[in-house]
Amino acid sequence: MLENQENFIEKVKKLNKNKSLKYFILTMGCQLNENDSEKIAGMLEKMGYKSTDNFKEADYIVFNTCCVRENAEEKLFGKVGEVKKIKENKNVILAIGGCMMQEKTMVEKIKSSYPFVDIVFGTHTMQNLPEDTYKILTSKKKIKDILDIDGEIFEGLPIKRTSKYKALVTIMYGCNNFCSFCIVPYVRGRERSREPERIIEEIKMLAKEGYKEITLLGQNVNSYKGNDIIKNFADLLNEICKIDGIERINFVSPHPKDFSDDVIEAIAQNDKISRIIHLPLQSGNSKVLKEMNRKYTKEQYLDLVDKMRKRIPNVVFSTDIIVGFPGETNEEFEDTLDVMRKVNFEQAYMFIYSMREGTIGARREDQVPEEIKHKRFDRLKELYESKVDENNEKYINTIQNLLIEGKSKNNDTTFEGRTDTNKVVIFKPNENNKIGDIVKVKIVSAHKWYLEGEII
Ligand code: SF4
Repeated sequence: MLENQENFIEKVKKLNKNKSLKYFILTMGCQLNENDSEKIAGMLEKMGYKSTDNFKEADYIVFNTCCVRENAEEKLFGKVGEVKKIKENKNVILAIGGCMMQEKTMVEKIKSSYPFVDIVFGTHTMQNLPEDTYKILTSKKKIKDILDIDGEIFEGLPIKRTSKYKALVTIMYGCNNFCSFCIVPYVRGRERSREPERIIEEIKMLAKEGYKEITLLGQNVNSYKGNDIIKNFADLLNEICKIDGIERINFVSPHPKDFSDDVIEAIAQNDKISRIIHLPLQSGNSKVLKEMNRKYTKEQYLDLVDKMRKRIPNVVFSTDIIVGFPGETNEEFEDTLDVMRKVNFEQAYMFIYSMREGTIGARREDQVPEEIKHKRFDRLKELYESKVDENNEKYINTIQNLLIEGKSKNNDTTFEGRTDTNKVVIFKPNENNKIGDIVKVKIVSAHKWYLEGEII
């Protein structure tokens, strides 16, 4: 971490001495934001704040925002309004950071309509939070700390992880792809990869601390660029698989266009790597894909799935799909249904297209009417859900390795864990089983959103 920020941590800690202060973080959006929030929590704890789940009792509130979906703005400003009421009776610091703060219009809106917000920070300046906090505590002057250029990668920020056995590890930042529906390249900047040695070091440390599962994060993980020794994503996967103690490795999100043979080979040869591959489809129609700037066709996507199925036994797929991209016709949408049928996705995250200001998609005049988008979405969802039972029944009588995640939500006497294809399994533990263990279970029944198993 930067030396001057460490100094500010010490200064804030001194100011907070003998006070019992609490922080609350609301994280919106993806796992990259969750990982950033863990770092924000790490810095706040070092400054003397303790975590609370109740934002009404917090002395420091952070909203870590996302701008990928349209309704995120409504959600944010609803919450900001609630904090305004708390601020009327109590001295609370309100900081808003993350992707949405890289949008100039958002920052202007906060300045004019929500002047009580204390700190606004962007995706490239999160590491300055100790300094920003010190300034707000000592001068009360509102702070806007945003960089438009791509930030450096800051290693060694303190971190407070939300789990003791599953960890998120960001391996790269930014994106160069400019898919025409997506705002991410504008708010997260161009691709920057972390040094492979620093990633390996972090994961070795996690293994030492007892972590069993890691998820490698990046907007486009398989375009990761290393150095002369660990050159690319496949090399990185192979190196991470050698780390003792790490039993399961996931990664999100890869891009189909960058899914090279050596990555497929790395997965095939290392059974620590999850057998559910997230392969964002977005649309099943080649013309729409071209307009989305995705750089693959329907046929290339299906060929890739086939290739992986041949090389990686038991592989299954999850995906992201957008319905109603501008200009999408009914026939073109049928192609998306066709790919859904052919691939039979184990999990699908389906979205109705929403305009993101500043993207090419938002400038198009042939927007699909809301009603049609909703109808198409319902058809897609119906098709997906019609396959869930069939997909789950395939697991009956199979033996699965489960990572135990904790007690079941509605039953204290059962535990739940996940298979290496990310299926939730409920089972009765024996006296030796504990959270974080990997155990073998036989699947005895299948339900819509979970499986039941018996320890063997
Ligand atoms: S690959 Fe496309 S969808 Fe993914 S972050 Fe980059 S621009 Fe957005």
